[in-house]
Amino acid sequence: MTTTRFAPSPTGYIHVGNLRTALMNWMIARKAGGTFILRIDDTDQERSKEEYVDQIKRDLEWLGLTWDRVERQSERLDRYADAADRLREMGRFYECFESPTELDLKRKKQLNMGKPPVYDRAALDLSEVKKDKLREERGGYWRFKLDQERIEWNDGILGDISIDAASVSDPVLIRADGQVLYTIASVVDDTEMGVTHVVRGSDHVTNTATQIQIIRALGGHVPEFAHHSLLTGPQGEALSKRLGTLAIKDLRERGIEPMALLSLMARLGSSQPVELRTNLDELVEGFDIGQFGAAPTKFDEQDLFPLTGRYLQTLPLEAVADDIKAIGVPDDLAERFWTVTRDNITTRGDLLAWWEMFRDGADPVIDPEDAEFVTEALALLPDAPFDSETWGKWTAAVKEATGRKGRGLFMPLRKALTGQPHGPDMADVMPLLQKVRAKG
Ligand code: GLU
Repeated sequence: MTTTRFAPSPTGYIHVGNLRTALMNWMIARKAGGTFILRIDDTDQERSKEEYVDQIKRDLEWLGLTWDRVERQSERLDRYADAADRLREMGRFYECFESPTELDLKRKKQLNMGKPPVYDRAALDLSEVKKDKLREERGGYWRFKLDQERIEWNDGILGDISIDAASVSDPVLIRADGQVLYTIASVVDDTEMGVTHVVRGSDHVTNTATQIQIIRALGGHVPEFAHHSLLTGPQGEALSKRLGTLAIKDLRERGIEPMALLSLMARLGSSQPVELRTNLDELVEGFDIGQFGAAPTKFDEQDLFPLTGRYLQTLPLEAVADDIKAIGVPDDLAERFWTVTRDNITTRGDLLAWWEMFRDGADPVIDPEDAEFVTEALALLPDAPFDSETWGKWTAAVKEATGRKGRGLFMPLRKALTGQPHGPDMADVMPLLQKVRAKG
């Protein structure tokens, strides 16, 4: 059975980069009728916060990316300790004592000599006596001993990958304070939870190589791996610093619709064009991980606004009725209000400005050369409330009285009534307009 997982660390809010990972894993599971696990990677007790766990869930729920179950790494520490013991018994686990400064010095020396900065395994040569002493002095941490051979896999996005394990440092799996690190926790979970597909960012490629060896050592089944490219800004600039402002919750607060965000992220970086999808089933149906490329993917948040606008245009009144009620539109005007505004908004937040304009009347815009004409025309306008025939009857009367026609007739009147040179059909606007401020 196809099983995938999204495994955020609850040390911050999730952003568009994380969403790419979540969405791809979710779509693989849903397309196959499989299981999608939300795994909270919270082994770092200091940095993990409950507030972030809650927000991650809220974000995913808002997007509709629902999970079949939640797992928390902090509740599975005994499983990781167990795996560590097994690796220790197999002789694949060894204790090290170098401080970060010492390691840094080693790396610099290696680089100076033109060598790759790979951990030299000096700890393997320490005598038991020396180790006991060091353990007492500073405590030891544990590395996994890689088999120095090529590690290969067929990546769902990157294609055939081959990494020489000799060019990679033996990964630290347990810290001196006993904290289990992600590399082993993730492997134990993926193996025990039967994860069949792992999609994550290409910053994890080296992790994958080492994890494949750890999975094999523990006798687990190696899942299919796929690594998506990292997102950049529209000009190809690194997005890492700005990701903080591209949190899902911020985009939501700015009025982006979930389907707009999902439609963009489901296609960005693939050979298929971005198409607006109006529901999750369509999104899943059109998904094919093989269409994604290895090149960095440009993300421009501005693309989300037109997609949001287009999505809103597809909605029936029921889908926005609560928003329309909340801003105070009377029930009997709701249907008409939506019909008139839906093609003229970018986000739901824009509805308020429209209602304020209808309710209070707009600041009139009257060009000096039209002043006399507008005054004459307004004298012919009956008092509100207006109906759907008001505009036709009124402009016919104005035409007759002034001799103006076409644009010269309609445009000054539109600007006087709505304050704008464009917008919805005036025949539809009139019944919503509660006041004409130009009339005084
Ligand atoms: N917690 C890890 C991260 O957020 C998970 C990576 C993975 O998918 O294995 O980077």
